[in-house]
Order: sequence, then structure tokens, then C-alpha cells
Amino acid sequence: MAGIYVHIPFCARRCIYCGFFSTVREEEAVRYVDALCSEIRLRRDYLAGAPVTTVYFGGGTPSRLTPAQIEKVIDCICSVHGTDSLTELTVECNPDDVTLAYINALRSFGVNRISMGVQTFNDGLLRFLGRRHTSLQAVEAVRTCRKAGIENISVDLMYGLPGQTDGIQQQDLETAVALGVEHISSYCLSYEEGSPLERMRKDGLTLPADDGTCADMYARMCILLRNAGFRHYEISNFCRPGYHSRHNSSYWDGTPYLGIGAGAHSYDTCSRQWNPDDLDAYMTAMEQGHPRFETERLSGTDLYNELVMLRLRTARGLDLSALSATDRRYVLKAADNLLSNGSLVLENCRLRIPESRMFVSDTIISSLFR
Ligand code: SF4
Repeated sequence: MAGIYVHIPFCARRCIYCGFFSTVREEEAVRYVDALCSEIRLRRDYLAGAPVTTVYFGGGTPSRLTPAQIEKVIDCICSVHGTDSLTELTVECNPDDVTLAYINALRSFGVNRISMGVQTFNDGLLRFLGRRHTSLQAVEAVRTCRKAGIENISVDLMYGLPGQTDGIQQQDLETAVALGVEHISSYCLSYEEGSPLERMRKDGLTLPADDGTCADMYARMCILLRNAGFRHYEISNFCRPGYHSRHNSSYWDGTPYLGIGAGAHSYDTCSRQWNPDDLDAYMTAMEQGHPRFETERLSGTDLYNELVMLRLRTARGLDLSALSATDRRYVLKAADNLLSNGSLVLENCRLRIPESRMFVSDTIISSLFR
């Protein structure tokens, strides 16, 4: 099993909090799509023939590409890797790019999952964040996907936004639930170095929500979504039964994946590779037929730390039988106090973080590292 991630770095404009690699140079899309297709062909052996089960177009804003451009990339992936094993094909969309014709076209190319970048249904906060869409456009976009026959829709939300009251957060979650989506991802707003939002924070122009407020919001979100029938399967991800993101789950399960595009990362179980997050350098390298990427070989310690970090993000937790006897002894010793104070639970040979401590999972996980 393997996955393919395709990075589409184009955005119509930049949101104030953005820490992703993205650019507003949309006029480069035609050249970029050709570069993606070159990379798909040039790196055809990276996955060593493992059947590709998931493909994910992320960004940036993939819905800035035309249907024909997305089709070209999908066709290229399918011609190189085949389609027999492909079960999940996701495209991230921005609500104001969504039309019935657009989603119908994606569906005709095999896209069966849409991830909608909503963030909040509050118009004031959407404007503050620099998002292009309104609350109404977000609602309409989800309904349009459904009308086009997409049966697996995810929405991305945020909490811990400056000025986001408990009531606004509750309304965000209840609106998403009422729309009948199968999946909700919800992340705490972070202040990325170099972003306009971080500069505003430094200049005292915005007041970040404090840790206690964010922790309370997280706890309320867990309860609300559980009561609405969602399964909390990863720190920031909730789904209706059977609708977890297969692609993202493969990251947490340690499945190999190939990352295509500027700034994309790849993993083959013993090393990580990443492409330059520089549009021109990426496209030139692909046109010359020489993919440029950096590689990090993973040591035994790296592999142990990654296993602990990725598995403990999930509700399934870390299967201790997957560890060597030495690593098992090490992790159990490091977990001793955390088990005593309820920060970790050991059940059926699996170590996991209970939902009540998920918000502080980074601290818990890092104390188990070698
Ligand atoms: S749409 Fe996403 S990638 Fe683009 S600027 Fe906004 S947050 Fe960044």
C-alpha cells in the first residue's frame, strides 16, 4: 500500500495566518502542471511498485486549477501507477471556487472526497483571517458537493481565533454537523513565524487566545462532536464511522508515500525526502529531467521517535508488539509516570493518550522520545 500527495501551491491571495508553502503566481499553473507530470514519470520507481491506494491534492488551493489541469495530473498518476487499488482520491477546495460544474468534472475524473477549507462560519472572523469566502458560500459549497454526488466531504475548521467566543465555536461545529459532512478537521490557530498574523501579535494588534481558553474549546469540541456521532480518531480529526481520511491515516500508520510538487515531502520507511519549496527551482529541475530533493536517512532512534510520535496522535495508539524488545522496555519505563497520572493508558498491548489529555499530546509524546 502507498499514497501520493500532490502539492498545488497556488492561492488567489494569502491568508494572514498562512505558514504553508503557497504563492499567488497563478499564471504559472500551466507550466507547473507539466512539471508535476514530469515528476510523476521521473519518480515512478520511488514506491517500488507498491499499490497506490490514496491520492491527495493539497495546497495551497488545488481548486485554483482548472478541471482539465486536475484531470491531466490524475491521468498521469493513473497511467504510471494504475487505478486498480485506488480507493480514495481527495481534492482540497476553497468554497468560493466551488461550482456544480467544477465538482461534477472532478467526480467524473474519479475524485470521491472533497476537503473544504472553511475555517469558521463567522463572517467577521473569515474577514479577519483574510479568507476569500463568506459563511454562506461555505454552506453552499458543501451542498453543491453533495448535489454533485460526493459522498465523502470533510470540512476544515479552526478554534482559538482572536475574538472567537464559545458561542461562535459552537455555532461553527453545529453548522458543520447540520450540513451532514462525514469528516471534520479542527486545528488550533497557530502564529507562524513570518506571517502577517504573527507580526500583528508582536505589534500588539491582536490578542491570541490563551492556552486555557484553547484547551476548554478543545474539550467542548470533543464532547459536541462525540454527541453528534463522530469518532475522534486523531488529535485534530473526527469522522462518522468508516469515514476516516485513508490518506492522512497512512501518514500516521507509517505507510510509504510519494510527495509530488514544490515543497512536497516523501517517505519510503527508511528515509524522508523533500522537494525545494521554490516554484522556479522546482519547475526548472523537472524541465531538465533532474528532480532535486534533499534526503534524510532515518536512524534507529529517528524511526523509534517517529513511530511513537505518529501512532500516539491516533486513538488506536502505539502497538507495543511492533517495537523491538529494547524499545518496548524503554517506552514502558519512560511511560511509567504518565501511566500513573492518567496521561497515558495501556490496554491490549497498546499505549494511547486518553481524549482528556489529547490537547497536551505534544508534551506527553516528547517525553517518550529517545
Ligand atoms: S488558502 Fe490555505 S494555503 Fe492559501 S494562503 Fe490561505 S491558508 Fe495559506
